Amino acid sequence: MKRRISIFGSTGSIGVNTVDLITRQGGADAYDVVALTGASNIALLAEQAVALQADVAVTARADKRDALEAALAGTGIEAAAGPEALIAAAARPADWIMSAIVGAAGLAPTLEAARQGSVLALANKESLVCAGDLLLREVAAAGTRLLPVDSEHSAVFQCLRGESRAALDRVILTASGGPFRDWTRDQMARATLAEAVAHPNWDMGQRISIDSASMFNKALEVIEAKYLFDIQPDQIEVLVHPQSIVHSLVGFTDGSVIAQLGPPDMRGAIGYALNYPERRALPVERLDLAKLACLDFRHGDAERFPALRLARKALEMGGLSGAILNAAKEAAMDAFIAGRIGFLDMADHVESALDALSAAADPTYSLEHVIAVDARARAHVTARVTQGEDLSHA
Ligand code: NAD
Ligand code: MG
Repeated sequence: MKRRISIFGSTGSIGVNTVDLITRQGGADAYDVVALTGASNIALLAEQAVALQADVAVTARADKRDALEAALAGTGIEAAAGPEALIAAAARPADWIMSAIVGAAGLAPTLEAARQGSVLALANKESLVCAGDLLLREVAAAGTRLLPVDSEHSAVFQCLRGESRAALDRVILTASGGPFRDWTRDQMARATLAEAVAHPNWDMGQRISIDSASMFNKALEVIEAKYLFDIQPDQIEVLVHPQSIVHSLVGFTDGSVIAQLGPPDMRGAIGYALNYPERRALPVERLDLAKLACLDFRHGDAERFPALRLARKALEMGGLSGAILNAAKEAAMDAFIAGRIGFLDMADHVESALDALSAAADPTYSLEHVIAVDARARAHVTARVTQGEDLSHA
């Protein structure tokens, strides 16, 4: 029987790479594609759905229903629209599900997918950051196999394979440092959107590219690692490594360190999750270490990149602090993209939300709790952004 697969966020950067690998591995002949989902890019969503003969294509945007229906007319592929349709699509039985929606919007479909007891390939790190306890509870209850797709966490997962968990001493997450790696705070204060999106090594969606520039991406990944590998905050280190060749490392109690290396191409981590527990040939470049000659490493600078400090702060606070951090960061990023605040103001708004809002929650919290905390954090930042504008216009 063909493996049934669904891709949430198939039109994004991770989604397109996932579709690429599935197509190269036989497409509709080799896989039974259940659901593909997107948001605004209806033409691409319809094209993917036809090429892979999906059962259903879903756009997150209710206002795009007619456009999607028109694009799929006569194909026999079902069209659906809106956030509820996304959750319904996640409930359709599948053996392998890619979670690659960007942001907290991915949480509800990811939770639904986790209830299936199949393989959940998780690119949407925000699910773990916002609701780590809840997602892991669903995963455990259903016997779902959770496979990290974030390149750093895929690296750690690969380094841990076959090792005894008792021997794990520390996890070392590498960070490229993004486009502002060597910028001063004054320079960063004036950074434009175009500069923030121009990542030196990785070709990614707009929002994660901005997160890389601010190192909020690494902040999310530190929290993600805590949940994925069940480790203490002081066991997680961040190491800036500009070449993005060493994807991450694991240190063991005997002093040994195992690293996973590869070219900066997300198809490595996606393909690993797609073919796990096997390895298959992937269309990624072969590493030539002699040509690279040097690999550089340095400590992460929490002075210039306050996101690194805020991740620790959120971990110490516990409860739903990850949901506060992420929602405040998403709202602050919306304001930065709209030109309403400066690049460095994003961290300031996040810290204010962490200080102002209560993260208290017992570990049995529900999705409704997370949504409420998320909304409070967004409202806090939005009000603060508006206040700042009023002050500067006064
Ligand atoms: P992207 O912006 O390129 O794509 C996002 C996808 O989500 C698209 O299909 C889009 O249509 C969909 N989407 C957007 N808003 C939505 C909403 N409100 N509701 C439902 N769907 C919506 O993002 P990306 O770079 O592919 O990142 C996807 C996820 O993978 C993120 O969580 C990101 O942190 C993670 N990730 C990405 C990379 C990368 O290289 N791009 C690497 C590691 C982790
Ligand atoms: Mg990553």
